[in-house]
Amino acid sequence: MSQPRTRVIKVHANDNVAIVVEQGGLGEGTVLDDGLVLTVPIPQGHKVTLEDIATGEDIVRYGEVIGTATAPIPRGGHVNETNVRLPRAPALHDLPLATRPAPSAEPLEGYTFEGFRNPDGSVGTKNVLGITTSVQCVAGTVDYVVSRIKQELLPRFPNVDDVVGLNHTYGCGVAINAPAAIVPIRTLKNISLNPNFGNEVMVIGLGCEKLQPSTLVEDRPVKIYENTEAADPEANVLSLQDESFQGFGDMIEGIMAMAERHLERMNRRRRETCPASELVVGMQCGGSDAFSGVTANPAVGFATDLIVRAGGSVMFSEVTEVRDAIHLLTPRTADETVGRALIEQMEWYDRYLEGGQADRSANPSPGNKRGGLSNVVEKALGSVIKSGTSPIVDVIGPGERIRRKGLTFAATPASDFICGTLQLAAGMNLQVFTTGRGTPYGLSMVPVIKMSTNSTLGQRWHDLIDLDAGRIATGEASIEELGWELFHLILDVASGRHQVAADRLGLHNDLVLFNPAPVT
Ligand code: CA
Repeated sequence: MSQPRTRVIKVHANDNVAIVVEQGGLGEGTVLDDGLVLTVPIPQGHKVTLEDIATGEDIVRYGEVIGTATAPIPRGGHVNETNVRLPRAPALHDLPLATRPAPSAEPLEGYTFEGFRNPDGSVGTKNVLGITTSVQCVAGTVDYVVSRIKQELLPRFPNVDDVVGLNHTYGCGVAINAPAAIVPIRTLKNISLNPNFGNEVMVIGLGCEKLQPSTLVEDRPVKIYENTEAADPEANVLSLQDESFQGFGDMIEGIMAMAERHLERMNRRRRETCPASELVVGMQCGGSDAFSGVTANPAVGFATDLIVRAGGSVMFSEVTEVRDAIHLLTPRTADETVGRALIEQMEWYDRYLEGGQADRSANPSPGNKRGGLSNVVEKALGSVIKSGTSPIVDVIGPGERIRRKGLTFAATPASDFICGTLQLAAGMNLQVFTTGRGTPYGLSMVPVIKMSTNSTLGQRWHDLIDLDAGRIATGEASIEELGWELFHLILDVASGRHQVAADRLGLHNDLVLFNPAPVT
């Protein structure tokens, strides 16, 4: 018996809109199962009204008000950014804190992956030499030397996966003592401690820059190693202006010699069986559409809960895509302190946007809207589903390191590359990225599993997408099935058994620092 085709999806019993599943959309006059007739053509992913909605009436999706109608919309009509008014963001005082008891979840035991255990106890999913830089001035030189290292040194060290130059635009021409400068500075310091760099830190600087290279190796937030050559700042910081270098050739030789010492140690490392509790997974979405909150993000949320049950760490981020769903999150904080920390991050970001005379309506993007997302409230409701149902045990600021196992909110902008950069600094060893519109996004430091929210994209980008969650919309797979599939894929990728599309193709985005402080 063939299953009836799913043509529209209504998420919550109280919703007065549903989204069109059909590839290519549905034409005017289409009659749905319950007799509903479309009054206009509606593209795939866009919302059809299930009842007459008068001007000023609420439009409800996910059981939440996403806005009010600016004009009457008849049953079978099309709801989009032109006829929905953005509601006020939820007030931040008086939110319920830590009121929802944690759902009872059996611990998940026996799941493992093959990782690289580091001296500081963290576990890498790759064995990569990261070359930290203190200033943009050295970027060209670092690119040059990375290519030389890859050609001349790496073939001799087959157990090292890659060498990556951590170039960025910070370091000089910036107000280095402004209070907010702490964000880019701690981001750089903490990225060098990412588990995939094996606690081998080397820093290339220029010499005269405001961010002195030595500051990137002092006052480390965690004691990572002692009495080893790798710990000696003298031996692991190099400035191009060092007067012992007679020309460019000397500098390159100096950097190559330093890299070789690190590569020799790294080449002795082997993967070993580690419990799934050593996973530190960053969740992100980008190029979202109306399916994100129905297919990929709920599957990610299910996998989030599985990782937490296995004792691992998961981060969700993207403040502007959390702000309008904050009332759904504060009850889930583990205690009132965590709840207040979550609200503080929202307040900080409200002020940050205000200072730039922007507000949350700057998100979503034109592509989000073409994908059926009418405003940031609808986007946020679909985005926070990535966090699953686990209690939120901690909140960290931008560029800080993760401190606890379980589910952490790591405050970051929603910008894909900035969020990725900050999750690297927080210490993720793998990222899951959901996309509806499509992006070839990838990171050279940690593997990124890309999931499509709809099968139209999954099929068109068959060689860029690692997992298609569009099968949930068509009824071919359940959220639980996809969630388990993602969990197993995470273990395979973390073990190096499965290569993600971005790594196979060598598609890697730049580090982009979040610098809320002034530039001089
Ligand atoms: Ca994003």
